[in-house]
Amino acid sequence: MSTEIVEKYQERLAEAYTLHRKFVNPQFVRVLEVIGYDRNYVSAEGAYLTDANGVKVLDFLAGFGVYNIGRNHPHVARVLHDTIDAKTASLVQMDLGVLSGMLAEKLAEITPGNLEAVFFTNSGTEGVEGALKFARQASGKHKIVHCHHAFHGLTLGALSVNANPEFRERNEPLLPGCIPVPFNDLDALEEALRGGDVGAFIFETVQGKGVFVPDDDYLKGARELCDRYGTYMIADEVQCGLGRTGKMFAVEHWGIVPDILVISKALSGGFIPVGAIVTTREIHGKIFDSMERCFAHSNTFGQNDLAMAAGLATIEVLEKENLVENSARMGGRIIAGMQKLTEKYEMLSEVRGKGLMIGMQFAEPKSMALKASWKLLHKMNNDLFCQMITMPLLEKHNILSQVAGHGLDTVKILPPLMINDVDVDKFLAAMDDVLKEAHKITGSAWKTVKDLGIRTARTS
Ligand code: PLP
Repeated sequence: MSTEIVEKYQERLAEAYTLHRKFVNPQFVRVLEVIGYDRNYVSAEGAYLTDANGVKVLDFLAGFGVYNIGRNHPHVARVLHDTIDAKTASLVQMDLGVLSGMLAEKLAEITPGNLEAVFFTNSGTEGVEGALKFARQASGKHKIVHCHHAFHGLTLGALSVNANPEFRERNEPLLPGCIPVPFNDLDALEEALRGGDVGAFIFETVQGKGVFVPDDDYLKGARELCDRYGTYMIADEVQCGLGRTGKMFAVEHWGIVPDILVISKALSGGFIPVGAIVTTREIHGKIFDSMERCFAHSNTFGQNDLAMAAGLATIEVLEKENLVENSARMGGRIIAGMQKLTEKYEMLSEVRGKGLMIGMQFAEPKSMALKASWKLLHKMNNDLFCQMITMPLLEKHNILSQVAGHGLDTVKILPPLMINDVDVDKFLAAMDDVLKEAHKITGSAWKTVKDLGIRTARTS
């Protein structure tokens, strides 16, 4: 039976787009086709995807930050095969699994400070939902402060603390008592917390949409304010955790310990959906405060053995292969290399990030000819400019990257943490070439992207 499915996978690979157009999300199929991202990848290993024509593509998207250890890591695959072969008694529900206990123990060891009580989830947004519930219940206060540009997931609770209008629209009214404040603004945070009636301040330690990094004193200051006004701190490290920023958890860069830490994406090495809310015994004890309330928050699949085994194996790989250190080193090389390019190319205004979570900011050029094209393009569509970078990166250089958010003119990369110096050199050379083309006013880059704007306008 399983062999048949794998045979069918091979036989029907070319049908992916047809099947998705018919049965899944036809609008997304159109987007991929219009930007030339319809490569139809057929296999993947480490930092590389292989497309239907056998071309290898350097994956600097990593499934939005899922593949920190690289794709199809053989150690995690082996552990998963072994776990299935062991016929473990998974999800009995009215008993306890040892693998979930072991992964919880490991998470308590690698997370900072006194974070040691673990609740397992199936996704990032589920982790955020749980964290919001924990903070509201433990504090007895329903208000939540969140940041501008924040992205915490798309279920209704997480969406209530999501600052992006394109996701919120058509869903209002959302949870009451959610207060947006600008990121990196301690005065605004204090203003919001001053009444003493806010249960939690939720933030991404490094923001994913736009890749905004906290100022040196921001998180320490926020910690002090939260302590002063009786507000819990929820660090959402769904994307920036597990080595992504060059520390195991990004909060370590700024020396703070949140009250609740949410992780997910990279935890299972990309094999099984999984996530975790890691909090203090004190907060956990306030939610689960009697035998009647032992299921005060629960789910069905959170502790499934395959996810737990994959989580343990993934952390082993992160540690044994020194991937956190590699993330800091390779990220440092990319940021330094890209910063040099800001001197050469006027539209590349800033490079920001930590480790291998990097945003490249573009801004209106000073020279008259480029300025006119920039203005025209932004008049057509505020989201087009970055395609002038990401499309040729893929088409000409076989590097997969992404746009960092709506209307931001920021290109983002999230490479696997196991990339090497050759991959970094390849990326920097490709960016140099793509930027050179983008700065030629008579070159084909502007035409391609303007045509894209016209086609998109016609078909939407
Ligand atoms: N939080 C952050 C910071 C994220 O980046 C994401 C997803 O991109 C989420 C939460 C939601 O995670 P999921 O897509 O697994 O629900």
